[in-house]
Order: sequence, then C-alpha cells, then structure tokens
Amino acid sequence: MRIPLIAGNWKMNNNIHESISLVNNLIQLSNDFNNNVEVLVCVPFTALYSIRKLLNSSNIKLGAQNMHYDEKGAYTGEISPLMLKEIGVEYVIVGHSERRQYFNETDESVNKKLKSSINFAIKPILCIGETLEQRERKIEKITVENQIINAFKDIKAEDAVKVVIAYEPIWAIGTGKTATSEEANEMSSFIRNVFKELYNEELAKQVIVLYGGSVKGENASELMNQTDIDGALVGGASLSAEEFIRIINFNQ
Ligand code: 13P
Repeated sequence: MRIPLIAGNWKMNNNIHESISLVNNLIQLSNDFNNNVEVLVCVPFTALYSIRKLLNSSNIKLGAQNMHYDEKGAYTGEISPLMLKEIGVEYVIVGHSERRQYFNETDESVNKKLKSSINFAIKPILCIGETLEQRERKIEKITVENQIINAFKDIKAEDAVKVVIAYEPIWAIGTGKTATSEEANEMSSFIRNVFKELYNEELAKQVIVLYGGSVKGENASELMNQTDIDGALVGGASLSAEEFIRIINFNQ
C-alpha cells in the first residue's frame, strides 16, 4: 500500500513571521484534512526551527529544500544533514531542477546527497524531469531514466525504496502549464519500469512517485487519481493554506 504524500515546496518564499502564520493556518484547518494522505511542508532553512516547534502538536511533517552531503566541514554557506537532524527535519528535497539549473547541482552531487540523506535517516525526495526541448526531441524518457540511474549509483534496493521520486517536468514548473494527467501517469509508470529494471518488481510497486509542476486545487484530483501517481510536490499553490488544503483534499 502506497500512502499518498502531498508536499509543499515553498522555495525562497516566506520569512519566519509569514511561515508561522501559514503553518498556523494549516494546523487550524488540519481537522478537515483527508486522513489518508501524508502532508509535508518544505520550508526555508531560516524557518525550520520555529516551524518544527509549531508542528510538534500536528501530523504535518517537516522538510528542508536542500542539504550538503557531508556532516560538517569547511563549506561556507552550506547546511549539513546533522544540522537538519538536530532540528527534527524528516524529509529533504534533493536535486530540484532549480538547483540543477542555477546552482550547478550535478548527477554526482545528487547521488552523494541521496546516499547521505539515507545514511542520516532523512527521507529524500529526489526530483527528476525533462526540459521542454528534451520533450520536443522525444528524449524525455531517456533523460529521466539517466537521471535515475545516476542518482541511484551504488544504492542498494533496501535503501532505494526509502527514496520518494518527484517527477517534475521543467516546462510545467511555475508556468501554469501542467502535464496532462495521461502524460504525468505515463512517465510515472515508466519510472516504475526503470526501478523494475534497476532493482526488482516489488520495489517498482512500492516506490512513491509524486507529480510536480503547476499543481493546484482544480487539477489535483485528476492527477492524483492516476494509477501510478501517489501525490504531489507543490510550489506556488502551497503558499496559500486554502489552496494547499484543496490539494490535500483532492478526493473529496
Ligand atoms: P509550481 O507548483 O509552482 O509549478 O512548482 C513546482 C515545483 O517546482 C515543486 O517543487
């Protein structure tokens, strides 16, 4: 049984005050949450500590948006997995396309971060997805397959199953353009196939695959009800408590 996960990625939005206010809104409305989904907010580093304290009395999980792979050292400006553990962070986003695009995140660093987060028992959400140009050239599947193969290099099946996959076609991020539910489901099922080849059929069935890219209240239900999609990684729409809850309650 795969439990659906609805995750908000706030990106570089919300100061501490705004973060507290948004999470308080979510907590107040959480009695109305769809009980069968796990809810997660991935907040900026500066808000993690305050939000951890607020979330202690709720079922909402806490995530970070990035981390360094080493536990400490001379890496000015970086945050280590140990620092995230100390705060009680449960999830971390790894290899988001914005980090790959603007901050030189490579397949190699993504692989190191994946291994490190598994090591420190912080659940990784690995982001993969193709550009518009790659889709137009019909190389979206090979692109995604290579991203998976490189990210999971030297990771054993027992660890691989702990990784949540977020399929985020880059052309659908922040553009208002969503992949159709058929396109998103086709890629999610392809991703399971890659896991079957790389590991085994059991793991392919167990792995949680999210869709991300312009998910909103109005399109959540259709996307989430696809056979191979287990939830969403939500950017812009997670900045409004009301809209995020519409997504959480996609099946109501
Ligand atoms: P949007 O929902 O704003 O398109 O962002 C998606 C995303 O990048 C989530 O990680």
